[in-house]
Amino acid sequence: MSDRAFTHESFQHYLEEHKLMGARCQNCATLYLPPRPLCPNCYNEQLAWELLSGKGVLAAFTAIHIGPRSMQIAGYDRKNPYCSGIVHLEEGPAISAQILGLDVVSPENNQIGAPLQVIFVDRDQGEDTQTILAFEVQ
Ligand SMILES: [Zn+2]
Repeated sequence: MSDRAFTHESFQHYLEEHKLMGARCQNCATLYLPPRPLCPNCYNEQLAWELLSGKGVLAAFTAIHIGPRSMQIAGYDRKNPYCSGIVHLEEGPAISAQILGLDVVSPENNQIGAPLQVIFVDRDQGEDTQTILAFEVQ
């Protein structure tokens, strides 16, 4: 599908194109997200990019009141916290991302196992935009 290197940089490139891509080992079929240049399972170097559905379920989450600078610039702070979580993707792997649509004020209202769909949030970062991986409760 592509000859892009299996790096975080390539993964981020795909995010900017609004694609969630994993790397699948062509020997043992294990899927990696973010990608790895070498399969840690069978030490094979033959991997291939695979477009993922972006569907998953909420495995864990936490409300963040003081986030990294990029999130502060995006308007999140003590008064406007956001949720970060672990998403179990339909294809198998888990990934951490910002989760939208959760109740940040009353976390007990949120359901582990809630269905999620990927969304790509384009944020202005001065000169250019950066695409943030996020998931939204369905
Ligand atoms: Zn493998």
